[in-house]
Amino acid sequence: MHVTAIVPAAGGGRRFGGAIPKQYVSLLGIPVLVRTLQALWGSGAIDSLVLVVPPGEADRCRAEILERHGVRAGRVVSGGADRQASVHAGLLAAPEAAEIVLVHDGARPFIRPETVWAAIRAAVSTGAAVVAVAVTDTIKLVSPDGHRLETLPRERLWAAQTPQVFRAALLREAHSRALADGFRGTDDCALVERMGHPVHVVPGSAENLKITTPEDLARAEQILRARGTRAGAGP
Ligand code: C5P
Repeated sequence: MHVTAIVPAAGGGRRFGGAIPKQYVSLLGIPVLVRTLQALWGSGAIDSLVLVVPPGEADRCRAEILERHGVRAGRVVSGGADRQASVHAGLLAAPEAAEIVLVHDGARPFIRPETVWAAIRAAVSTGAAVVAVAVTDTIKLVSPDGHRLETLPRERLWAAQTPQVFRAALLREAHSRALADGFRGTDDCALVERMGHPVHVVPGSAENLKITTPEDLARAEQILRARGTRAGAGP
């Protein structure tokens, strides 16, 4: 089965502050996005890859990310105003041959090969799979006025990460329907869920963090250093 990865990396990085777009931010000498792409190719599970970057950044990304670090991407395309629009742009550029589409945030460099494979296997058999972790905090739903709280049942709450993996036809349909209905979701599963299609949960790890703030970067450096001291553990 042909597996295409779509890597949305077109976020503005506003929560990161600073002048450098988030995808160029260095994690112990290597940009976060390079580490993410290396982890995906290194899994041996993907056949092609579409990288989605901010409009106007494709040339700089090819030179400073791909060529400088010797990492491949089949196509580099411009993203949109939100994550959904960026993934949609990636889907439009995905090869016709793609049977399975794996969407993975450019800002999650710590994905493990075994998790990539588990998510793909689940999507092949069920159509849709998401890597997620059970939450450890107690989550509250806050009323719009900010004064009333409702406590959600923790034993049923999972935090969605990526990869999120789908049969290609299902994800294409989910994006088309969301666009037609004016629905905006913060992940791809949400678009598939609203079609009534079940999404299979694949347990992930808290290490698969999304590097969004300078605090995340500090945590990422800790993880990388810890992996470096564990034999055979990681990029
Ligand atoms: O915004 P969020 O933190 O959910 O972003 C998750 C991923 O989606 C990041 O890798 C980010 O670069 C990407 N993104 C995108 N296009 C946008 C916004 C976010 O590709 N317009």
